[in-house]
Amino acid sequence: ERVRLARLRHTPAVTLDGEPVELLANIELPSDAPAALEAGAVGVGLFRSEFLFMNRNGALPDEEEQVAAYTQAAQAMNGLPVTIRTVDIGADKPLERMTVNDLRHEHALNPALGLRAIRWSLAEPAMFRRQLRAILRASVHGRVRILIPMVAQLREIRQTLEAIERARAQLAEAGQATGDVQVGAMIEVPAAVLILPTILRHFDFVSIGTNDLIQYTLAVDRSDEAVAHCYDPWHPAVLQMLSTTIGMARAAGKEVCVCGEMAGDPAFTELLLGMGLRSFSMHPARIPLIKQRILRADTRKLAARLPAILAHEEPEQEARRLLQL
Ligand code: PEP
Ligand code: MG
Repeated sequence: ERVRLARLRHTPAVTLDGEPVELLANIELPSDAPAALEAGAVGVGLFRSEFLFMNRNGALPDEEEQVAAYTQAAQAMNGLPVTIRTVDIGADKPLERMTVNDLRHEHALNPALGLRAIRWSLAEPAMFRRQLRAILRASVHGRVRILIPMVAQLREIRQTLEAIERARAQLAEAGQATGDVQVGAMIEVPAAVLILPTILRHFDFVSIGTNDLIQYTLAVDRSDEAVAHCYDPWHPAVLQMLSTTIGMARAAGKEVCVCGEMAGDPAFTELLLGMGLRSFSMHPARIPLIKQRILRADTRKLAARLPAILAHEEPEQEARRLLQL
């Protein structure tokens, strides 16, 4: 079975009814890129850049080290898209103590609702500027995109896009070349789904982080064992969030991807295809398995069954029945 899955590497991910699907890889370090290609990924949908910042006992990577890391990833992917998420520090991904904000973070009453992700970056402007400059500089070596984690409010959208523009202008003034870099938003907070028209207006693409979207929609801490039984990707509210986001992004002509664990879980492949999703980003090891399901799927049939599943009070049972999972 492993050998058979490995042979799928060069088979394009196209459904029975001819819909092409993009299968992308989630990576943590540039050295993960070769495994992504090996698995048949057609790009990196999520480079969790915080792993460059973690477990290094105090010394944050400077601009040059980051340029080298992002360039390595871009070059390894050979012209395929590489979506670099700006640091998603905080909550389940803590940093060793090193900045004032980190100290504040250690004492956060509720880290998941505290100074994390884009909030942390905006509170550390010098660090954020270094990262943005590094990504923009690396963009001449491939097809680099920027992804912003945990977007929830217009004010932070404005501040973020201004910071990117400033970094671009600074580099241009210094005669540094930069590529054409698209900027996307992670959809992982219910508020982001509810203000999606605003987000789609300001960003080039969106990527749904189901791990956090489930946590914040259901008010269930994703790292708390005591409530693990309440963490339910099949919850009707979660499915509505997903379906709405995918549908609205497509209607607006903007790319939409799912990069949370649901994208690499074969239990959800048909459902997500039925919602109109055509871009999945996952751990490279999951790609062959998901591709196999895609090759056997008929998106028109799946889309026709979606309304009944979404309307059901127990979507999981209904999906198993209607999608023959
Ligand atoms: C997510 O929240 O689904 C996601 C992809 O980001 P992370 O798991 O890194 O928070
Ligand atoms: Mg997340």
